[in-house]
Amino acid sequence: ARERLAERLDAYGLTADALAANWIDGRFVEGEGELVTLMDPVTDAPLLSYRDAGAARVEAAASAAERAQREWMALTASERGRRLYRAATGLDGHEERLAGLESLIAGKPQRDCLGEVGKVREMFEYYAGWCDKQHGEVIDVPSSHLNYVQRVPYGVVGQITPWNAPLFTCGWQLAPALAAGNGVVLKPSELTPITSAILARLLERAGELPPGLINIVNGLGPSTGAALTSHPAIAKLVFVGSPETGRRIAEAGASRLVPSVLELGGKSANIVFADAALDDAVAGAQAAIFAAAGQSCVAGSRLLLQESVAEAFLARLTQAVKAIRVGLPDDPAARMGPLQNAAQYRRVQQLIEQALAEGATLLAGGERPAELPDEAQGYFLAPTILGDVTPEMRVASEEIFGPVLSVLTFRDEAEAVALANGTRFGLAGAVWSQDTGKALRVAHQLRAGTVWVNGYKSINVMSPFGGFGDSGYGRSSGPDGLREYTTTRSVWVETAPQASVAAGYGSS
Ligand code: NAD
Repeated sequence: ARERLAERLDAYGLTADALAANWIDGRFVEGEGELVTLMDPVTDAPLLSYRDAGAARVEAAASAAERAQREWMALTASERGRRLYRAATGLDGHEERLAGLESLIAGKPQRDCLGEVGKVREMFEYYAGWCDKQHGEVIDVPSSHLNYVQRVPYGVVGQITPWNAPLFTCGWQLAPALAAGNGVVLKPSELTPITSAILARLLERAGELPPGLINIVNGLGPSTGAALTSHPAIAKLVFVGSPETGRRIAEAGASRLVPSVLELGGKSANIVFADAALDDAVAGAQAAIFAAAGQSCVAGSRLLLQESVAEAFLARLTQAVKAIRVGLPDDPAARMGPLQNAAQYRRVQQLIEQALAEGATLLAGGERPAELPDEAQGYFLAPTILGDVTPEMRVASEEIFGPVLSVLTFRDEAEAVALANGTRFGLAGAVWSQDTGKALRVAHQLRAGTVWVNGYKSINVMSPFGGFGDSGYGRSSGPDGLREYTTTRSVWVETAPQASVAAGYGSS
């Protein structure tokens, strides 16, 4: 893996041992803080090292972004759109290499990573089209005034992303931020440092974006992350990650009166009624939880089955799941790779053990898959299904972020809705039924930002995405996602100065 990594990094003039992981002001720069060593999720051997960026690098990134953002806004809106569209062409010919790097570091199937690179392209193409279509408005105030409202960027925004989908989340937040006219300083997870920086280089160069418009600082949360959230140049914070850290980010923002968008975790319910098309629902239940080995914010980690169909459904599901191939990320037949890191691997195993001790039954998985290549000494776990789960158990309420499905049963619609909403999260959910009226009735009662009917996991850059409750606030994607990156300036012009000055005293 180290050799393949070195080869892929070499194409960008980078080395795995002292990785210059930051992209600041148009060039790769080494960090100044402590050395971070990452392990290979496949082999559990050291994979690469880099230095935590540190506060001085964040400072350099923020001031580069301030300068570049002024240059960016000096261009016409149409020109910004053209450049963002061209930026996406920077991915041409780099898709395989970038996906390969992501796959090596994140341990994710290469095919999935390639899909994410494609999504990044879509995001830039979509938001490029918005650049010259964001209009202010004229407000119909009394005729003594003309009042118009401009949509303006915040200036420099700070973005923080997680390890489960580094390229996807990077492109997802960069594209609307830039389309709205902002400069960006983004910190990826310390566990997946380099692909975001390479992405920034490819986009910035191809789009002839002002150097410094996109800055990627890599490092640890308490040092580099905290330096970013407390930096005075940062006017808005957008965070994708866990609720625990999200709370800290929002508090750091609040202490400086900086607003935030939080895209957090979930414990999404996948509800299957007895009248569902069962083959589709069985396939959907697998995709919902086992894609990305369950390391997905929208994972359908709670399967709610109507009692009358539970036994038959579980028989089909467990049989199908035992056939899921877990393997190396570059094995085209593998549908699941390892978990991304050792701490996550241990945590997931502990949660399974605790569930079994609390009375859940193991219907599939629960341990390392039986047949793995010799080199697979890392963080592999077979797709796991836990039956007889009750709402009080930890596996029914906590986000596991691993390939573990908790199965609960319900009698009727009301109980299904109550169980589905019986969580502090509210990110996503799904309903399976061939009775359209019932499916929609239930869908409309779910307290979740995204709901699927007879499907799972479709998302599109055109459609808003976000959570309720502990899954966060604010929205990403679509026009709502763009709006989060702008604020307004209301301009008042006196058209009858004498009269309005006299009338206006004391009115506010
Ligand atoms: P995490 O909260 O541990 O870390 C996320 C980021 O926050 C990392 O970059 C980390 O370095 C940084 N960070 C940590 N402490 C910080 C601090 N004090 N100041 C500033 N930054 C700090 O999350 P994770 O484990 O990397 O990711 C998994 C979580 O992300 C899951 O809960 C998952 O559901 C969630 N997620 C949500 C979405 C969504 O769109 N809703 C998408 C993907 C992942």
